[in-house]
Amino acid sequence: MNFIYKTIFLILISYIFFTCTRNQGGEMRIDKQLFGKTIEGASVYLFTLTNRNGAMAQITNYGAIVVSLSMPDRNGNMGDVVLGYDNLADYIKDKAYFGAIVGRYGNRIAQGKFKLNGVEYTLATNDGENHLHGGVKGFNKVVWNAEEVKNDSSVGVKLTYLSKDGEEGYPGNLYVTVIYTLTNENALRIDYTATTDKPTVVNLTHHSYFNLAGAGVGDILDDVLMINADKFTPVVKGLIPTGELRDVAGTPIDFRTPTVIGARIDQADNQLALGPGYDHNWVLNDWDGSLRLAVTLFDPKSERFMEVFTTEPGMQFYSGNFLDGSITGKAGKIYKFRSALCLEADHFPDSPNQPNFPSVVLRPGETYTQTTIYKFSVH
Ligand code: BGC
Repeated sequence: MNFIYKTIFLILISYIFFTCTRNQGGEMRIDKQLFGKTIEGASVYLFTLTNRNGAMAQITNYGAIVVSLSMPDRNGNMGDVVLGYDNLADYIKDKAYFGAIVGRYGNRIAQGKFKLNGVEYTLATNDGENHLHGGVKGFNKVVWNAEEVKNDSSVGVKLTYLSKDGEEGYPGNLYVTVIYTLTNENALRIDYTATTDKPTVVNLTHHSYFNLAGAGVGDILDDVLMINADKFTPVVKGLIPTGELRDVAGTPIDFRTPTVIGARIDQADNQLALGPGYDHNWVLNDWDGSLRLAVTLFDPKSERFMEVFTTEPGMQFYSGNFLDGSITGKAGKIYKFRSALCLEADHFPDSPNQPNFPSVVLRPGETYTQTTIYKFSVH
């Protein structure tokens, strides 16, 4: 008899334990829906990743774009912290690179030219005389293959794209994989790999426009930013680096200690005048290819806090200087001047023409890898 009671008691306890732990968090989910069709008629999908806390990332295989990213504020209310559009047609027209994977080359290559093994390559120019973010039809304007990936602690989408030999002027067939993962720690992780069949250059990055108070809610000038970098790459007109690695000390470019973005953005400074505002590459300290903390960002209104970890040597901080209120985004919100910022982890601009910058050359048999994590919490 005693044995029967003990057994019933154990079953009851196990049931209560199982039910409680199961209800501690929500369900991790991946939902897939049609997002629309491209002009050429290709179907494009929207993947909605939901983690146990109810945080959400929506990703489309058009441009490998993060369409929305919902994270909790200090009261636990979810808010979408990236700019974007409600529909595919607007992404097709977009010129701001909202949420996209940028490739083959993040940022600018001077005059769209570089030499590799004695051969000069001419790339498509789309930013005055320079090549920007992969050219006229970069990785943000192509349809990627997509596959859902799920394990015990995260949900994700694996995106692959073959950039053909000669695309936008680049040599070599480039096989690219990007895996977006939403973890139960409220982190959006991006793992990139690429291989080639001819020597080429590659520098991939992610181009979300963050506003931690919510997309379309005010500007980012009260946000507090830290960039772990003692140096930056000064630029000339057209935002092309001079090749110098200059100390940030004593300049408004210094974010080594957390500093309000708007505090110095309008100071008389020849680098800021070129932006106009922040649009520079910071040289991250102690780069060794391992994943480490590069940036923190805090929004005092929502008390959302974002940490950026990366394996990359550089961080392009762009303070949304070209947003001018002419774009209407999700839910009819107008995106005004400096209403969002980008934190693009990658190699330095114009590296193919700068022998002293870390190399962006990829050769057959080698694998390009990059990992960047945007992790959210409240402070
Ligand atoms: C660049 C800016 C550019 C913006 C949109 C950023 O990554 O640094 O100069 O205007 O992207 O293209």
